[in-house]
Amino acid sequence: MKLDIIGDIHGCYEDFKLLTEKLGYTWEQGYPQHPQGRKLAFVGDLTDRGPSSLSVIETVYLLVKNDLAYYVPGNHCDKLYRFFLGRNVKIAHGLETTVAEWEQLNKIEQQRIKGMFKDLYENAPLYHILDNQKLVIAHAGIREDYIGQYHNKVKTFVLYGDISGEVHADGSPVRRDWAKYYKGNSIIVYGHTPVREVREIHRTYNIDTGVVFGGKLTALQYPELTVKSVPSSMPFIAEKFRTFDNQPVVAKQSQ
Ligand code: MN
Repeated sequence: MKLDIIGDIHGCYEDFKLLTEKLGYTWEQGYPQHPQGRKLAFVGDLTDRGPSSLSVIETVYLLVKNDLAYYVPGNHCDKLYRFFLGRNVKIAHGLETTVAEWEQLNKIEQQRIKGMFKDLYENAPLYHILDNQKLVIAHAGIREDYIGQYHNKVKTFVLYGDISGEVHADGSPVRRDWAKYYKGNSIIVYGHTPVREVREIHRTYNIDTGVVFGGKLTALQYPELTVKSVPSSMPFIAEKFRTFDNQPVVAKQSQ
């Protein structure tokens, strides 16, 4: 199986299009297709903060429906889903941009997008186990012992990461560095925490290079394990990127 796994897009649709073209995809029927039949995979967080969240939803929906892509939900996807269910979610932390786009639509279009997103989300696994378990894709990563399990703690982990319940001074949750202690054989590809360069450690790859914060949008090619990126069209916000002490590990770049 040959895949191009894409990091958190967060509504950066034009950057996503450029990345697929760099990867050799051509856009026909409104979605990217590869001449050699490679498939795409998405680590979640399709929407929020960026300019074109609804176009990303529509494209990923079409890809998954046509069996051309794998998708797992991220925490932003989970929140948008709960918004579409009519739950009382706080319209903040980026959701306000997606909701504003959606509210601009007429009622028929609103129903169409909502229907697509609910279908996409409801049919997505919490995480994908692929290629005879040689590859696992999960939004915030996954602990080795959670692979194959689907209970609530697993859901919290794959959506939010290894959170302890503690918060930083600014109110943001403390995320423990699970990848540092990962000892499994499966390659884990994930996003969720923006980093300046792909972070590869112990067969885990964080490919969220913060496109929505002015970093870049990255694909990890599988099984080649090469990285391809396009620069972001968004303004750069340095404080949104996490650094890891003593571990500036960068996956091999191919341009
Ligand atoms: Mn994200």
